[in-house]
Amino acid sequence: MRLTDPVTEIKGVGQKTAALLEKAGIGTVEELLKYYPRDYKVYGSPLSVDDSSFDDKGSAAYRVHVTAQAKLAGRGRLKMVILSLPSISGNVQAIWYNMPYVRNQLVPGTTIILYGRLCRKRGRRVLEHPEILSEEKYAERLGGLWPIYSLTAGLSQNMLSKLLDQVFAENVLMQDLLPSALRRQYDLAEYNYAVRQIHFPDSHEDYLMARKRLVFDEFFEFILSMRMMKTRSGLSPNYFPVEDFSGGRALISALPYQLTEAQAKVVEEIRQDLSGPTMMNRLIQGDVGSGKTVIAAIAMAAVVRAGWQACMMAPTEVLAEQHFDKLSALFEPLGIHVILLTGSSTAAQKRKIYEKISSHAADIIIGTQALFQEKVVYDKLGLIVTDEQHRFGVHQRELLMKKGVSEKAHVLVMSATPIPRTLAMIVYGDMDISVVDQKPAGRQPIKNSVVGIEYRPAAYRFIEKQVRMGHQAYVICPMVEANEEIDAENVIDYSEKLKRALPQDIVVTYLHGKMKPAEKNDIMNRFVKGEIQVLVSTTVVEVGVDVANATVMMIENAERFGLSQLHQLRGRVGRSDSQSYCIFIYGMAGAKIKERLEIMRTSNDGFKIASEDMRLRGPGDMFGLRQSGDLNFSLGDIIADSETLMLASDAADKVMASGDYPDPDANQALRAMAERFIYKESHVMTL
Ligand code: ADP
Ligand code: MG
Repeated sequence: MRLTDPVTEIKGVGQKTAALLEKAGIGTVEELLKYYPRDYKVYGSPLSVDDSSFDDKGSAAYRVHVTAQAKLAGRGRLKMVILSLPSISGNVQAIWYNMPYVRNQLVPGTTIILYGRLCRKRGRRVLEHPEILSEEKYAERLGGLWPIYSLTAGLSQNMLSKLLDQVFAENVLMQDLLPSALRRQYDLAEYNYAVRQIHFPDSHEDYLMARKRLVFDEFFEFILSMRMMKTRSGLSPNYFPVEDFSGGRALISALPYQLTEAQAKVVEEIRQDLSGPTMMNRLIQGDVGSGKTVIAAIAMAAVVRAGWQACMMAPTEVLAEQHFDKLSALFEPLGIHVILLTGSSTAAQKRKIYEKISSHAADIIIGTQALFQEKVVYDKLGLIVTDEQHRFGVHQRELLMKKGVSEKAHVLVMSATPIPRTLAMIVYGDMDISVVDQKPAGRQPIKNSVVGIEYRPAAYRFIEKQVRMGHQAYVICPMVEANEEIDAENVIDYSEKLKRALPQDIVVTYLHGKMKPAEKNDIMNRFVKGEIQVLVSTTVVEVGVDVANATVMMIENAERFGLSQLHQLRGRVGRSDSQSYCIFIYGMAGAKIKERLEIMRTSNDGFKIASEDMRLRGPGDMFGLRQSGDLNFSLGDIIADSETLMLASDAADKVMASGDYPDPDANQALRAMAERFIYKESHVMTL
């Protein structure tokens, strides 16, 4: 078996399984090996249900003595097997849905191990869908970590583990690009060992070593290719000098407010860049709500007045649409023509849009990645703005370079994730960095509360009160729809629940990323216009959405989100001079969860939150939380893995500094790898 073989070469994989794997992006043996687990089950010493007071232990094993026959309950299609677990505090149940056959495994008089997450449901403690294991079987697993993969329909955990097992049994070796001297220097595991251990760790230590190695590779590849590109392109001369900043000034005078000092300072930096001897390549970092959009708008106005086009790319259609609406209103009175281009424009619309772009009938083009499709030909593209840069894949910047546009246009990227400066210098090493460290005047700090689900009725009354004052609210749920395996709120059921809990005249609607673009836009527009008062949404609204009239952000299952993400979500409110509120609701409350949420309660400062996040989450945090999202590395997290990031940066510097590091052959191989990375197709996150 070779790495490049199609998965059908693996025994037992027919066309049908291959098609399922294909959907998960797995076509070859190598792609299967690189399909890393998203989390692990940790098989620790079994607990007793008695010492499971309501303190979330995550998934855990419980030793249970089966005293009585399990009951079969439920109506219609939903059949449940319920096993009562004797406990001093009473009322603990294990429940399986639509699996009547599990009763055979629950023999009265025997002792078994149930592995699952104990949660609270309607005042009861419930183990939902636990795995059933004999004591002997569990003893074999004790201390081990079992992989959990992201699955697409039709695939199962077992299937993936089995396939991987088979591949490992064949001992297909992959070439380790890092020579042993370099590995020793940075304390990195061998590559084949790492890939094997990331799937099937022998121990927690092995897992950490494996992860460190693979994260290192990911960072190293990225950093090295960035450094190579920087050297290659050098500093391109300024093809689009903007000597006269009057376009920018015209926009500033048309604004209904004064720029903050921080905004004015960044505008000045941009003015100097645009008129300077080389092309601008600048990152604007600023906390949510610091007013980055208008800075980009000023730059675009200046470039357009000088006779060129400018474009602005957003990671979601929802956001592109919003920028289009807001910016057209600003630009059109100045005689600057703006158009919108997204993936969901129809073919006929696109033809017209392309025509307007190439004929320069459009000055400013706002859109998603559709802005850089083959067919789009700009007349004179002088400035490319990327909003929420961190939400695009790591290949984003390369993609632009590959298209040959970024060397020949000024580049301005905006990011709201405040990462510590040392890390920003590594990840954005090729750019100048500006920081907007001030919010518009008159913003009141958001008031936060962290509460359990029993607080919901009070929260609903509070939302009602705010709506009666003319405001609007967001409610965030982690899931789109109900899922038997994951005990978390979903937008569809939740919006029904909320409609019943609130008076009928309050309009409640839901929004999620899987809806059709036109539907999403329609809902966002109605929310912007105030026709919808309460928007129950997934995190699609996390990035950039700006509805100043919204004053309440309520986040269900707040324990499931990363701190930076919670901060971004909270940033959707507090965008006007009205007092805003953020209610974090936790569905589970362990000490660690409380500590994390306490940070959110006591701080509204994105930088502080990012560094606390870094303190709390060591490398390889296995809480299964979404990572900080920066640049979407598949395994690495620039905050939690910051130490590895620095090592990778150091190694990349050395490779760049000398053709003999770590040795001449390896140096060549590493440069070639970075080269391939540059030209890899971009994996851009779609929401
Ligand atoms: P972000 O930095 O999160 O992208 P936005 O650019 O969306 O923030 O700005 C947040 C809100 O603040 C917008 O409604 C914008 O119009 C407003 N805003 C921006 N700058 C100022 C200012 N100097 N004074 C008052 N409001 C401002
Ligand atoms: Mg923004």
